Amino acid sequence: MTSYLDAATALKELETYGRSDGLSVDALMDEQLSGGLTYNDFLVLPGYIGFAAETASLESKITKKITLKTPFLSSPMDTVTEAEMAISMALLGGIGIIHHNCTAEEQANMVRSVKKFENGFINDPVVLSPKNTVADVKEIKATSGFCGVPITENGKLHSKLVGIVTARDIQFHSQDNTPLEEIMTKELVVGQEGITLREANEILCSSKKGKLPIVDSNGSLVALLSRSDLLKNQSYPNASKGPESKQLLVGAAIGTRPDDKDRLALLVEAGLDVVVLDSSQGNSIYQIDMIKWIKKDFPDLEVIAGNVVTREQAANLIAAGADGIRIGMGSGSICITQEVMACGRPQATAVYRVSEFCRRFGVPTIADGGIGNVGHIIKALALGASAVMMGGLLAGTTETPGEYFYHEGQRLKRYRGMGSIDAMNNKSGGKEGNAATKRYFSEGDAVKVAQGVVGNVVDKGSVRKFIQYLVTGVKHSLQDIGYSSVESMKDAVYEGNVRFEKRTAAAQMEGGVHGLHSFEKKLFSA
Ligand code: GDP
Ligand code: GDP
Ligand code: 5GP
Repeated sequence: MTSYLDAATALKELETYGRSDGLSVDALMDEQLSGGLTYNDFLVLPGYIGFAAETASLESKITKKITLKTPFLSSPMDTVTEAEMAISMALLGGIGIIHHNCTAEEQANMVRSVKKFENGFINDPVVLSPKNTVADVKEIKATSGFCGVPITENGKLHSKLVGIVTARDIQFHSQDNTPLEEIMTKELVVGQEGITLREANEILCSSKKGKLPIVDSNGSLVALLSRSDLLKNQSYPNASKGPESKQLLVGAAIGTRPDDKDRLALLVEAGLDVVVLDSSQGNSIYQIDMIKWIKKDFPDLEVIAGNVVTREQAANLIAAGADGIRIGMGSGSICITQEVMACGRPQATAVYRVSEFCRRFGVPTIADGGIGNVGHIIKALALGASAVMMGGLLAGTTETPGEYFYHEGQRLKRYRGMGSIDAMNNKSGGKEGNAATKRYFSEGDAVKVAQGVVGNVVDKGSVRKFIQYLVTGVKHSLQDIGYSSVESMKDAVYEGNVRFEKRTAAAQMEGGVHGLHSFEKKLFSA
């Protein structure tokens, strides 16, 4: 008859086993034993659940100075991130990086429209004079999307406020040539200069008006407040915003050529918060010089450098002053770099090696490429990345550029690598030339060798729902692993308390759906 241990000693008995089950991250990543790993090559072992999933915090840094509530970035690709995607990403707590396969002016305009989307005090509101007409207001509505316009004596800011025109004043007004002085509201509720945002918001709420002009002691207009911004703030409590301006954060990508300096100046003027230096192999003299130049000329601008996959590459960029490092070479879903260039590294190994190094310098890292599902996000974070960048996973959402089309009954959108021939042949780069070509080749090359492909992805609906699905999924995953924040999970990984297991090919089969005649894979319902 076997004699069993007393159940009450189960925890104590664990101690006789020494360290917990599974592998520490160091053992998992032992390249002598297992070579380079990808996300699918391993799993994280579950821990103890002591909290509700929705209370988990995903807060994490993307650069030394920028912390996001949702550590997701949308990739600077011309089939992924323009203004619409960047606005949605920021509202949901992430950030969009606007691509540069367009003219500098087009890219700056996209940055500007993200910055203008939400405001605290609008310090440069569009203003008209009493002699302007209804047609002028309609024109503003058509180009900027709003029509709440303060009217000052000379039609400029810092001139005496004499009225306001809003949507309701012009809605049913058919005479386009009517001067605004005939229709504007002259009895105004205003706030005095020096008032705090909180106080101004209270006046806005209690007065039940749509706009609150702010005036100085002479009655001259100095700023404007919009009720719709209070609603945006209420609807998107996790939004990534400037602490004072309340404007959404936005990033943009540039190359490392001399003319990219002029491009950057325009982007900064438009309000850029973070620049991503977009190179497939970031460890170059061009990028190092560019980082140094940016840090000198725009000391307040955060710089994400890359891409890199080794510590040696990262060290050069950190030494040059990078505020964040982007990791990935050849892991993107549309990418053929590893095949063509024979350069690159399996992404899980790259993320771990580079992040572990960057961490010592307080430089956050971004795992870029190969994120195909919620599990890949949590694995990237567990391996030390501060945030993830997604291209293919967000492609096909409503907010990406491009039109939907039907093929064999499915609603699809185009998704293409920035190193695809298609993207490199895009002539929209203006006088600076094509950004995709510059990322992957020299302008003078007689033959363009593709490093990416063109493909199609299925309609994923709005990114606003899709990101919420990813966030909820990551929170549940954190709960399974037993840590209530990304930060505490990462610390526990480095301390050896989060454990891992390698997956054999058979284990990977087992982890997927198997043994069914057919099935439908629906990822979420909202
Ligand atoms: P409106 O009532 O037609 O003016 O439009 P909404 O109130 O719906 O939207 C105005 C949005 O545009 C707010 O989020 C503002 O912060 C933003 N915005 C940015 N710049 C300006 C500006 O110069 N004037 C106004 N009225 N809104 C601006
Ligand atoms: P604190 O950190 O608690 O002082 O508050 P916040 O900085 O979050 O907000 C200060 C005030 O600004 C509060 O009244 C918020 O409701 C308000 N607020 C936050 N975001 C926005 C916004 O985008 N627009 C406007 N007009 N107000 C905002
Ligand atoms: P995904 O999320 O689709 O797996 O990967 C997106 C990432 O792939 C981008 O952020 C970028 O770093 C990289 N990428 C985009 N286009 C190309 C390309 O044509 N070739 C290569 N090698 N990488 C690309």
